[in-house]
Amino acid sequence: MINIVLFGKPGAGKGTQAEFLKGKYNLTHISTGDVFRYNLKNDTELGKLARTYMDAGDLVPDELTIKMLQDEVEKHHDTKGFLFDGFPRTIAQAGALDAFLSTKNWEVTATIALEADDEILIQRLLERGKTSGRVDDQDEDKIRNRYQEYNEKTAPLMEYYQKQNKFYPVNGIGSIVEITERLSKVIETL
Ligand code: ADP
Repeated sequence: MINIVLFGKPGAGKGTQAEFLKGKYNLTHISTGDVFRYNLKNDTELGKLARTYMDAGDLVPDELTIKMLQDEVEKHHDTKGFLFDGFPRTIAQAGALDAFLSTKNWEVTATIALEADDEILIQRLLERGKTSGRVDDQDEDKIRNRYQEYNEKTAPLMEYYQKQNKFYPVNGIGSIVEITERLSKVIETL
């Protein structure tokens, strides 16, 4: 069992890289952003609860997010490992993930961070917004709010995982193939 947390700011390329890594290492990919968007699209109860936060670029409350993540993990019990993308995003979520995995005798194996400069990423998101249809990608104020959320609530996770010797930063600037190779080098040492 290997469980990888793919870490990085909005637009860092987590989703793009997860698409390659899940096939290469036979991992179950869970993107909390994708699951929320699926629920939004289908107008489920969860979608209705998450919509206002997501559209504003705020984080969805922990309780709701943690419950959703646990449900997703339970659906894939027979997997060789998980690739968590967009989760955890707060210290409370990281603590809940550790506690939940330990009930199954599993743990986070490594947190791999895709690093890139804010201004480059904001431009990437605005580009993505032209075609993705994502409300939160189309407005610079909302994007800046996501960065503020990241800096306040998500960035402290770096120290959380560093303390456990589980934090692996990777340069997130380069071609998609180059970055997949950088991530693969880390995964193969685990
Ligand atoms: P990005 O990393 O580009 O902001 P995501 O697709 O990962 O995009 O997430 C989109 C939105 O979904 C977030 O801005 C947030 O509102 C919500 N979301 C996703 N994951 C979480 C999480 N772990 N905790 C709280 N909210 C989340």
